[in-house]
Amino acid sequence: MPVVTSTKMFADAYKNGYAVGAFNVNNMEIIQGIAAAATEHHAPLILQVSKGARAYANHIYLMKLIEAAIDDAEQHAGFALPICVHLDHGDTFELCKSCIDGGFSSVMIDGSSKPYEENIKLTKQVVEYAHDHGVVVEGELGTLAGIEDDVKVAAEDSSYTRPEEVEDFVTRTGVDSLAIAIGTSHGAYKFTAAQCTRNAEGLLVPPPLRFDILKEVEKRLPEFPIVLHGSSSVPQEFVKIINANGGKMPDAVGIPEEQLREAARMAVCKINIDSDLRLAMTACIRQYMAEHPEHFDPRQYLKPAREAIKNMVAHKIVDVLGCNDRAAAAL
Ligand SMILES: [Zn+2]
Repeated sequence: MPVVTSTKMFADAYKNGYAVGAFNVNNMEIIQGIAAAATEHHAPLILQVSKGARAYANHIYLMKLIEAAIDDAEQHAGFALPICVHLDHGDTFELCKSCIDGGFSSVMIDGSSKPYEENIKLTKQVVEYAHDHGVVVEGELGTLAGIEDDVKVAAEDSSYTRPEEVEDFVTRTGVDSLAIAIGTSHGAYKFTAAQCTRNAEGLLVPPPLRFDILKEVEKRLPEFPIVLHGSSSVPQEFVKIINANGGKMPDAVGIPEEQLREAARMAVCKINIDSDLRLAMTACIRQYMAEHPEHFDPRQYLKPAREAIKNMVAHKIVDVLGCNDRAAAAL
């Protein structure tokens, strides 16, 4: 089975009040862990590749590993695993074209840092090429704070999506989905202490997501799939394991999972999760190394790390996204 687009995934997600997980991939163990969780829970899957991941692992390696995940599910689990391969934060037409020509089924063109009319022009150019090749496109309005690979935005330069722009943007560009900024943020340090309050245990509590903006966007774009970037929750148990085993991640904080579940019940059909997988993997490896100082075979620590990725993704699929048992609807 070839890779699929997200069109059917989003239509079903919108209708049934859930979101599809878009997980960032960089290597074999991450892809295997994610695919194992999706196979076990019969979940549709978006595997996304950033410009940085593509530079790290090489386009062809990632493509072949993803194809292997589909074949493996088919041959060993007897299950057609629907995977959409998506470019995360494409910043030029050339990069999007290269991913489309190289077999991706979806691309994001992120013109959100450009002036509005330039964003429209660039996005429209990518949409025309993508649609000619059977590929879908995600655009972005509003700017998220935080750091993700090459995308770095200071909190003071971030801005919420302006709902009054969304109909014009979607109509003029022809995009298939739209990423909006309602208070999520890239990376493991989503908010500074000054932006947060502290709970009884002294942990940072971030400001709530702007559901009022999401509601207004939903009203203006009925049945149109909305995307949330920067939606890791930075589970504190993993931060604790990292810090207890030689790591240093003070005040790492993310988006509470119940708010993401709420967004998934609304117009949000795709939720991007990257940092939580990194945390799960790093926590597992740090703890393993500390407990087994004599081991030096990478398989010894990558095997439990892969299992940690699988467990994290399974938790997201079932408890946060609600996309379990929806795979058949994506085919
Ligand atoms: Zn992003």
